Amino acid sequence: MAALYVTAEGGELLQLRGSYGQHKSQPQQLRRGEGLVGQCAAQAAPLQLDTLPADYIRIHSGTGEAAPTTLQLLPVMAREQVLAVLEFGSFAPFTAAQQALLDELLPIVSLALQNLQRALRTRDLLEESQSLTEELQASTEELRVQQEELRTTNENLHAKSLLLEEQSARLMASEEELRVQSDELQASNEELRQRGAILAEQKTTLEALQLDTQQKADELARASQYKSEFLANMSHELRTPLNSLLILSRGLAENEDGHLSADEVESATVIHESGSNLLRLINDILDLSKVEAGKMELLLETLPLQTLSTSLVRNFRHVARERGLAFEVELAPDLPESIETDSAKLDQILNNLVSNALKFTRHGSVTVRLARAATGAAREGDVAIQVIDTGIGIAKDKFEKVFQAFEQVDGSTSRQFGGTGLGLSIARGMAQLLGGDIRIDSTEGVGTTFTLLLPEKHGLPRVSLPGSPAPAASPAAPLLAVPTVPPSVPSPKPARVAAPSFDIPDDRHLLKAGDTVILIVEDDPAFARILVDLVRRKGYRALFAGDGEAGLSLATQCRPTGILLDVMLPGMDGFSVIEALKASQATRHIPVHFISATEDHTRGLDLGAVGFLTKPVTREALGTAFERLLHFAEGSTRQVLVVDDDAASRLAVRKLVGGGQVQISEAANGRDALAALGQQAFDCVILDLGMPDMNGFEFLERAAALGPVPPVVVYSGRDLSPEETLKLRQYTDSIVIKGARSP
Ligand code: ADP
Repeated sequence: MAALYVTAEGGELLQLRGSYGQHKSQPQQLRRGEGLVGQCAAQAAPLQLDTLPADYIRIHSGTGEAAPTTLQLLPVMAREQVLAVLEFGSFAPFTAAQQALLDELLPIVSLALQNLQRALRTRDLLEESQSLTEELQASTEELRVQQEELRTTNENLHAKSLLLEEQSARLMASEEELRVQSDELQASNEELRQRGAILAEQKTTLEALQLDTQQKADELARASQYKSEFLANMSHELRTPLNSLLILSRGLAENEDGHLSADEVESATVIHESGSNLLRLINDILDLSKVEAGKMELLLETLPLQTLSTSLVRNFRHVARERGLAFEVELAPDLPESIETDSAKLDQILNNLVSNALKFTRHGSVTVRLARAATGAAREGDVAIQVIDTGIGIAKDKFEKVFQAFEQVDGSTSRQFGGTGLGLSIARGMAQLLGGDIRIDSTEGVGTTFTLLLPEKHGLPRVSLPGSPAPAASPAAPLLAVPTVPPSVPSPKPARVAAPSFDIPDDRHLLKAGDTVILIVEDDPAFARILVDLVRRKGYRALFAGDGEAGLSLATQCRPTGILLDVMLPGMDGFSVIEALKASQATRHIPVHFISATEDHTRGLDLGAVGFLTKPVTREALGTAFERLLHFAEGSTRQVLVVDDDAASRLAVRKLVGGGQVQISEAANGRDALAALGQQAFDCVILDLGMPDMNGFEFLERAAALGPVPPVVVYSGRDLSPEETLKLRQYTDSIVIKGARSP
């Protein structure tokens, strides 16, 4: 039997590599020094055992087994190193030949083993190099991939850098653009600054100018204020003597006692007529100055053109017939139904134009034609009212002149035809105030056409502002020179402080209880005498006071039945007198009637007067004033007019307030009510706003046009809008809405 153990791991281990006749318990691996094999390797010398015990080991075959007797262990050496150990067992001791073979065999085995080991190393190295190559290949591949990646990244980077370059180029361009723009901005800033400076300069100039204008306007306002006061005073001074003159001359002309000759009566008539003309002139001058000062107030309303035409025919048909002239009013079909305007002013304008036409026409006709201003005309679309005559005509070069104050075509005109030369100035001024104008066309000897142009609606832009000249006004010099008062001087108040240097004997010593006594407070001796005389003729007692203070003390002392009071009095004026009278319990019930040259109706009535007459007054007007005084005097029955279309309502009111001292009159519509107001004085009107023929506002307006309106209680079924209430407040402080508690 034989076994080969080859050394491994630096000679420390011996591994079984081959065997012959091997037995079951043969070890696969041995350590150096372990057992005989290990011993042989450790001492690197052959071992030989010749007498082995019988049970040491057995050699097997298919047929049986037997124990060897000889054991030989041989180290295979190479350069002092043990490569392997060969173990041989045999039944018989080794022969010399066998021994020699073994000896010869050992170096061969050593060589073969060495070769084998080398081949194995080579194989290992090859494998190692192969795996290295593989690794190398793998890393090359990895490198390639990385390179590829790098290339892509590079490409990307390149693209990005291109983009960046492009962007930076663009940025540079826009930077340049910005620079240019900022340059431009700076330039325009500079320009703006310069303009601002110029503007500031202009503003300063403007402010200076404005200040200047303001001062001038203030001066103008002051001047116009002086002018108004001057005119008020002047009209007072003119009307006061005219008042007596008219009454006395009228009395003379009437020649009641019949002791004047026909010549004397004629003279008295001439005096009366001249006085009337003078009064007309004064009124014209006042009108004109009001127009010039822009002080004329407009009362706009809707005026149906048919109404206008009817009233023209009614007013002028007779005059025309008397003068043997045809008079015609024509309405074109294209006219609006109505226009919005101040109908009183329009009446005044048309009266002037038509009166002139009738005055300056000896043969032929006067025609009033209403139509729309022709297309293409200066004021296209306006309503044109033409007054066409076939009279003496006006020369072309006089066209503008006739509109100037006091201008007539020739000086002889006024002697031939009468007139003052103010009518057309006033008419044009008013027309412009109404937003219109007056045009003229004429041929001498053939006739004249005056055209009044009026807007259909009184548009605001055309209204002339108070104080500013009316648009397109003829450059007429102001009619009345403004009294030149230096601004520092206080306004020129009439210096009427001297006590009256006259005395009129009155009835103060004859008074008895039950007498009707009228107190006259008047500083014009002539007029005062007339009044005293009139009072006595009516069978009343007259008291006289020449100034306000005297009047007030006489009133307190004697408690007259009524007082006739002048406004402009030396010292305390009439308004202060009535205020004092109304403030005292003793005198507040005494009715006061104003007779004055001023036109302050509203103020007088607001202060509680029962009436207001403007001088000059007629006898008839004085008669009415007496009636009013006596009517309002204490103790008389109170008259109440109930205006309501509902009979049941009227009955209710009659039940409520009638009886005793209160006498009720009733009117079922506005027309009847106006008629009643015209016939009789009322202490109070109870008014329903909704009547079939005219509404309450219209009624009040018309009533106010007739004369002073008595206190009004508006007893209405409907709620009033704030505008309506405000409108009603002009006439009354008393508005009752019908309801549970209204009685
Ligand atoms: P008055 O008629 O009071 O004199 P106006 O101002 O109304 O004043 O008229 C001024 C002048 O214009 C008149 O005096 C007259 O010479 C002239 N005039 C006015 N209307 C006519 C007319 N229809 N025909 C001829 N002349 C006229």
